Amino acid sequence: MNSESFRLDDRHLDEAKRIAGSHCKRSGCNTCYGRGWQGVAQDNTIVLCHKCVDPEAAFRDWKDYVAEIPELREHYHELFEEPADETGGETA
Ligand SMILES: [Zn+2]
Repeated sequence: MNSESFRLDDRHLDEAKRIAGSHCKRSGCNTCYGRGWQGVAQDNTIVLCHKCVDPEAAFRDWKDYVAEIPELREHYHELFEEPADETGGETA
């Protein structure tokens, strides 16, 4: 359980880029040049373009994608948990 060294796999990065691009609303965006993302962070995840991408909409698509990839779903498990109350027991 060493999630600190998590690095998104390149094939998932490609998918993230594709999702971002599909949410670029302005074809002539000078910030991302129509890609929908501005750069790649240390953990190999993209930085969405804040000028033309609706982050909530893009995030919904990303969540749909993550839901089908067990390894990602595990890493992003917080996305799928209802923040009801504090459960101490973590299944690992
Ligand atoms: Zn843009």
